Amino acid sequence: MVLDKLSDSLKNTLQKIAKSVFVDDKLINELVKDMQRALLQADVNVQLVLELTKTIKDRIKQEKELKALTQKEQLINIVYEELVNFLGKEGHKIELTKKPFKIMLVGLFGSGKTTTSGKLAKFFIKRGHKVALVGLDIHRPAAMDQIEQVAKAIKVPVFIDKKEKNALTIWKKFKSELIKYDVLIIDTAGRDALSDDLIKEIEDITKEIQPDEKLLVISADIGQTAQIQAEQFHKSCNITGVVATKMDGTAKAGGALSACAVTGAPIKFIGVGERVDDLETFNPPGFVSRLLGMGDLEALLEKAKGAITEEEAEDLGKKFLKGDFSLIDLYEQMQAMKKMGPLNKLVDMVPGFSQLKLPKEALQVQEGKLEKWKYIMQSMTKQELEEPDTVINSGRIDRISAGSGISTREVRELIKQYRQSKKMVKMMKGSGDVNKMMQKFQGKMPKGFGG
Ligand code: GDP
Ligand code: MG
Repeated sequence: MVLDKLSDSLKNTLQKIAKSVFVDDKLINELVKDMQRALLQADVNVQLVLELTKTIKDRIKQEKELKALTQKEQLINIVYEELVNFLGKEGHKIELTKKPFKIMLVGLFGSGKTTTSGKLAKFFIKRGHKVALVGLDIHRPAAMDQIEQVAKAIKVPVFIDKKEKNALTIWKKFKSELIKYDVLIIDTAGRDALSDDLIKEIEDITKEIQPDEKLLVISADIGQTAQIQAEQFHKSCNITGVVATKMDGTAKAGGALSACAVTGAPIKFIGVGERVDDLETFNPPGFVSRLLGMGDLEALLEKAKGAITEEEAEDLGKKFLKGDFSLIDLYEQMQAMKKMGPLNKLVDMVPGFSQLKLPKEALQVQEGKLEKWKYIMQSMTKQELEEPDTVINSGRIDRISAGSGISTREVRELIKQYRQSKKMVKMMKGSGDVNKMMQKFQGKMPKGFGG
């Protein structure tokens, strides 16, 4: 996942707390030191780190008397809450209040504007909206070709003019055609730095287009220096939010996120890879719980939207947590998860999974394999599907194999994968720390999140 070093350090710190016999000054000091070290390594500004850890320390001292929670739980809860505050408190969703809803992307060269245009277009298409891309980068020679390719890859209409050298002329040319779309993603030109020239260009475009969202795209690999950029753009161009890109490739993302948060420009999305699906809405509570290894069911559900219905997604999460599923459930889960993208990314989002070492095969879903599973299952009796563990023996495997035309080896493989998945869920449920944490944070999780 993103920020995995920071995540590991914070998880270790929390585990130390969980294992300690009692909460005393020594433990608190150790906690504070550990957190400071971890945050500084993630390039968070020293001043911010000191303020955060002071707040945590003060709260721990002041709130010591609360009886509802054990002191350890209290401690973990304070760390969680303050990290959430630190990253901007709550998520800021984009509500499409108009048609067409105009989202304009601004930012420096190479920050990821064009890539993010495609990601955002896909994001809204998945949610059932009619989307078009508008390319207004008239500075970079190959910019129009790039956005054309991006659009083609996701099959979305793109409005560009390769010869025109004035962004507003391009906009005016297509304006009447664009009103039939729900969402317009408008890519603009960047510069090496925020210059008067760029400010003027953004102002001019803004005046004409009147975008409903003006998102600053910032590359997270610049760490805490993101603050200057976010501040400058916030002041000069009135941005309405930030997209932090390249979160996947940097250990400095903590610096970038916290730096943007202090400027008051809310981070609305994060880019977590080069592919068009590598975009996540940014939601501090979910982000922090993932960082601390508590999983993020909300992000999982978010991701599942568009791929499967909300109900199906919730069911999927519940079944995982319940642990008593049949072969058919396994099949359905694998099928649903296949639609959602690479499993190793998803696993980070399932509560507790990230803390466990999972067998690799348990995470692989291959197209051909699922097809074969279907044939195998069609040759099974109802009882075999429901209780494969108790009733399927080698005699039955031979029969199932003959009936389905799939080799006995593959029938065994399916049973094996089923057992592994079952074990994996059991492990997750049986893991004391995970259970405790999940109970602890249940109040903060979306509905349907059970321990
Ligand atoms: P622009 O100049 O602002 O339009 O930037 P581009 O969209 O052309 O992106 C610049 C480079 O950053 C490209 O090579 C992208 O593939 C890469 N990039 C953009 N977003 C991400 C991200 O979230 N993760 C990673 N790893 N690379 C990204
Ligand atoms: Mg570009």
